[in-house]
Amino acid sequence: MQPITFIGTGLAAYTVAREFRKLDKESPLRFITTDDGHFYSKPMLSNAFAQKKTPETLVTMPVTKMVEQLNAEILTQTQVTQIAPSEHAIYAGDKRFDYSQLVLAWGADPIRIPLAGNAADKVLHVNDLGDYGRFRAALEGAKRVVVMGAGLIGCEFANDLQPAGFSVTLIDIAPNALGRLVPEAVGHAVQQALQELGVSLYFEKAVKSVDSADSGYRLTLSDESVLETYVVLSAIGLRPRTELAKAANLSVNRGVVVDRFLKTSADDVYALGDCAEVEGLVLPFVMPLMSAGRALAKTLARQLTAVTYPAMPVVVKTPACPLVVSPPAVGLEGEWQIDGEGKDIKALFYTPSQQLSGFVLTGAKVAEKTALTKELPAILA
Ligand SMILES: Cc1cc2nc3c(=O)[nH]c(=O)nc-3n(C[C@H](O)[C@H](O)[C@H](O)COP(=O)(O)OP(=O)(O)OC[C@H]3O[C@@H](n4cnc5c(N)ncnc54)[C@H](O)[C@@H]3O)c2cc1C
Repeated sequence: MQPITFIGTGLAAYTVAREFRKLDKESPLRFITTDDGHFYSKPMLSNAFAQKKTPETLVTMPVTKMVEQLNAEILTQTQVTQIAPSEHAIYAGDKRFDYSQLVLAWGADPIRIPLAGNAADKVLHVNDLGDYGRFRAALEGAKRVVVMGAGLIGCEFANDLQPAGFSVTLIDIAPNALGRLVPEAVGHAVQQALQELGVSLYFEKAVKSVDSADSGYRLTLSDESVLETYVVLSAIGLRPRTELAKAANLSVNRGVVVDRFLKTSADDVYALGDCAEVEGLVLPFVMPLMSAGRALAKTLARQLTAVTYPAMPVVVKTPACPLVVSPPAVGLEGEWQIDGEGKDIKALFYTPSQQLSGFVLTGAKVAEKTALTKELPAILA
């Protein structure tokens, strides 16, 4: 029997495999990954620096142990270059690997905005352990850091780095932090907390160019103002990896399109995690991939199971302003009702029929998370 094959060894692939092994101890499993195959919690990457974590100490289970635990073959540092569903095979260069069932868990790429300047390629992104290692190395001896993007992850990095002794500047093209994800009052609460830490905030401005300077880089912004910094981190967002799927004529939209069974448009090919679009939803967070992983494990073990998504609030790692976000569905009609002030805000999103359909809590109001989550409708019932 050809192995069930996973492309990727992130949380998505490993969650499916761990769940699968609870149901089937014997069927062969193979992983092919461009990275080292170590198990780590990716959400830790944006608050690891202040905790003095290195890439090595972020690893909670090395690949050798994953091989044992999953009774699997794990091929590391190997890039899949083609998938061929009609042959039930994938290729890494000219090496062919046959599969029985294939799971695409190849994640997402950081969005790279086009920048001018002779050091535009020095802008860093942190999306895996290798990136984190490069970022840490760049921070050695640095004093100033510019973070591009004041979304969830940009705010988390700012909150992590400023108290660790860096002078952080957070820049975003939007008028306030966390953009359209939260009502303005919440963005302001987060901004106030970051400012109190000492973070400098620049809104409604974009970085235009990055050039080498005597020590570090010189950034020119859209209003022609200039900033000097040692490190530039881009946290603009992620885009699902879809190229190999597109080349194989799989259905692709924002992500690799899958149905409720996580099945792509090709037989025996499934996708989940940051690369997948499940029933029109791209949800690049841990809780959705855990739900998807549990369902897919059963399907791979021949117990066809549809994924369900309960309401899944995201806890944002900004201790300066504790924050929980459960945004309403994109385009849903309704209104925010905002209660509280300063850093303690409760924002509830109601539809015209008065159904609570989203919430954002900050500061002391975070304590209401569990009760409010129970009132939310499921995302995919
Ligand atoms: C800094 C940061 C902080 C975050 N914080 C949170 C948080 O607080 N809460 C939350 O819910 N979510 C958070 N997230 C999101 C969450 O971490 C991701 O949704 C999740 O880890 C994605 O897992 P994945 O397995 O789909 O992708 P990945 O972990 O990216 O795994 C992709 C795998 O595919 C491999 N791969 C890619 N292309 C190929 C190829 N061609 N051939 C072979 N292998 C390939 C890669 O090497 C990797 O092993 C955060 C993300 C980041 C970047």
